[in-house]
Amino acid sequence: MTRRKLVAGNWKMHGMAADLVEVEAIAAAAARHSGVDVALCVPATLIAPAVARAGALPIGAQDCHAAAKGAHTGCLSAAMLREAGASLTIVGHSERRADQNETSQDAWAKAAAARQAGLSVILCCGETEAERDAGRAERVVQAQIEKSVPEDASGDWFTLAYEPRWAIGTGRTPTLDEIAAIHAIARAKMRQLVGDAADGIRILYGGSVTGTNAPAILSTADVDGALVGGASLTAEKFVPIIDAAA
Ligand code: PGA
Repeated sequence: MTRRKLVAGNWKMHGMAADLVEVEAIAAAAARHSGVDVALCVPATLIAPAVARAGALPIGAQDCHAAAKGAHTGCLSAAMLREAGASLTIVGHSERRADQNETSQDAWAKAAAARQAGLSVILCCGETEAERDAGRAERVVQAQIEKSVPEDASGDWFTLAYEPRWAIGTGRTPTLDEIAAIHAIARAKMRQLVGDAADGIRILYGGSVTGTNAPAILSTADVDGALVGGASLTAEKFVPIIDAAA
C-alpha cells in the first residue's frame, strides 16, 4: 500500500510571535508540494496566531491532557486545543516521558482523548541509548506500541513516530538498516494490534533529521515521513526536508 509521506515539525518550547514569519514561509513551501503532507506542532500559545497565517498547513499541539476537563492547573484539554485551531497533536514524546514521567499508558489515554476531540495524533515511541546498547531496542519499542496504540488506530487519524531518544537533538542518527529494522517490527506489532488497518498507518522517523540526511532516511523501507525538531524552526532548514519527501 502506498502511504503519502508526512513531514511534521515540532517546535517544542520555541517560538514567539516574531517567529510566525517562519510559519508563513513553511506554509508556502508546503503548498508547492501537493504530494506530501506537512504539519507544524507549535507551542499552545502560538496555535491560534499560527493557524491565522498558515493557510492550508495543519497546525498542531505537542501534548494534551487525557481528561476532557477538570482540576488540572496549567493543563490543556484536546477540545481546547481543537478550539484554538489545532488539527493534530503529538502525544508520548520522549521529552514528556522523561520530564513529566509520562508512561505509555498515559500516551494511550491522551491519544484516545485527542481522537475524541477530533484531533489527529502523532504518537511517539523509542528506546534510550542504554536500552539499545543492551540489545533491547526492538523489545522496548514493541512494548511501548502494545501499551500506547489505541485499538481503533487507523491511518486517517493516527500516525506513529519512532524516535530513538539518544538521537533527539544530538546530531546522531541510527544507521538506515537500524531504522528499517525498527520500522518493520513496529509495523508488524501494529498489525497484531489493529489488523489490516496497520497498512494505512504512517510510521515517521524522528531524531536529528536534517535537510542533509532526509533524502536517505525518507527513502528507507517503511519510513513514511519524519518528525523534525530543531530543523523545523526555520523555513530555511525545514523546507529542504519537505523537498526531500516530495
Ligand atoms: P530533533 O527532535 O529533530 O531536534 O532531534 C526531534 C523530536 O524530538 O521530535
